[in-house]
Amino acid sequence: MINNKINIEQNILESQNRIISRIRNNNAVEFNNTGKNKLYHIVTYGCQLNNADSEILSGFLNEMGFMNTNNINESDLVVFNTCCVRENAELKLYGNIGALKNLKKSKPEMIIAVCGCMMQQKHSVDTIKNKYKHIDLIFGTNNVHVFPELLEKILNEKNTIIEVIESKSTIIEGLPVFRKDKHKAWVTIMYGCNNFCSYCIVPYVRGRERSRKPQSIIEEVKNLALDSYKEITLLGQNVNSYGKDFSEPYDFADLLQDINNIDGIERIRFMTSHPKDITDKLINTIKDCGKICEHLHLPFQAGSNKILKLMNRKYTKEEYLYKIEKIKKALPDIALTTDIIVGFPGETEEDFEETLDIVKKVQFDQAFTFIYSKRKGTPAFDMKDSITKKEKHKNFDKLIEIQNEISKKINDTYLGKTVEVLVDGISKNNLNRYTGRTRTGKIVNFSGENNLPGELVYVKVKEAYSWYLGGELHDTKSYPDDETVF
Ligand code: SF4
Repeated sequence: MINNKINIEQNILESQNRIISRIRNNNAVEFNNTGKNKLYHIVTYGCQLNNADSEILSGFLNEMGFMNTNNINESDLVVFNTCCVRENAELKLYGNIGALKNLKKSKPEMIIAVCGCMMQQKHSVDTIKNKYKHIDLIFGTNNVHVFPELLEKILNEKNTIIEVIESKSTIIEGLPVFRKDKHKAWVTIMYGCNNFCSYCIVPYVRGRERSRKPQSIIEEVKNLALDSYKEITLLGQNVNSYGKDFSEPYDFADLLQDINNIDGIERIRFMTSHPKDITDKLINTIKDCGKICEHLHLPFQAGSNKILKLMNRKYTKEEYLYKIEKIKKALPDIALTTDIIVGFPGETEEDFEETLDIVKKVQFDQAFTFIYSKRKGTPAFDMKDSITKKEKHKNFDKLIEIQNEISKKINDTYLGKTVEVLVDGISKNNLNRYTGRTRTGKIVNFSGENNLPGELVYVKVKEAYSWYLGGELHDTKSYPDDETVF
């Protein structure tokens, strides 16, 4: 049975590789004739898992001889990798593909593809099929591994192609990945989710949990280390469930320990964690493994037990706070961040006060706050609201105000200290400054003169705001042992 599965995976990979060669040869001939490369542009919505899929699509396209462009108007191929977690992202997609109608008219040979989570929902596929007839290719999250095959079909047939596999139990290893960043990488360790939170569409569009084999992940991280990557972020909808589908005992903490032993990698991050699955073993692993960053993102979503039950989150407010207490005790320097939903159906003012209570008690470094967005196909879709839209917005603003004050207060404690920063690049808001992150995940903007992106440097913090820190480059590249470093 296992051998059969391996054979199927190998066959898929080999057949995609043959198609990649054919398309690459055709593109090379075209380049010889016209002197022009075929260009592609990918627009990615939503979470890091979608970004990871886009990196695979980019990897495929690069292998096929396409080149990336930031200019959608000059592209020969545009891919929209969609998200259906919030209504906003869906509306944005329809706006963006609608805007391409005229471009497609003037450039009929251009291929427009739409893929991702939204395409796993029949009603979204129907909308695109009926209202946006200029779209050439529609495929789902479970079809990413056969992207070359779909592209070849569309290049040969010129008719709209819709291919959405409803569920997939296999994981195809060895797909090409193109990462824009050269110092930090996302590494997907598992796919899908088994939790069925009542507001969330993910289990329906990304399927049940499937963990990648530890050997494959470790090999990928070793290769990243050889390519001089310094930081990796392990990705999954619920990384704490990693390995639950294995026949031999091996869990997320075991994986973290193995990755911690890989030479060259300096920082390990992971997301996202589900509070119910945080174990003592995991807390101790974070404590004992020096490369795991002092940052934990632990979404609590709502403070009231009544709402947590309606959300099907499978923990109570008290259990969440108990776990936080344990984490803080074991890891006093940890930065905690969270996700919060305001205005879930049934949430009253009293329920919302429970949310504020958690925020005040935990003192999160940062909170990612959202007003509840109805998702068709989820159990919460038909639940009724207890408060008005206006009241929800008022509560949302109040939450942000309180959280911003807490974030600022925590960030103030960094003033005068020196922090280790992995430099991402030039700051978008101030081209004279660099930007990067501390181990605790804080954005730090700072002045510096050298070519620093991708380097680990020390920065003395001189300014603190709710969302970032500002500072100056420390004059040494060695550990400044006279000061506290987070
Ligand atoms: S844990 Fe809940 S919110 Fe997160 S992906 Fe799974 S179902 Fe969605």
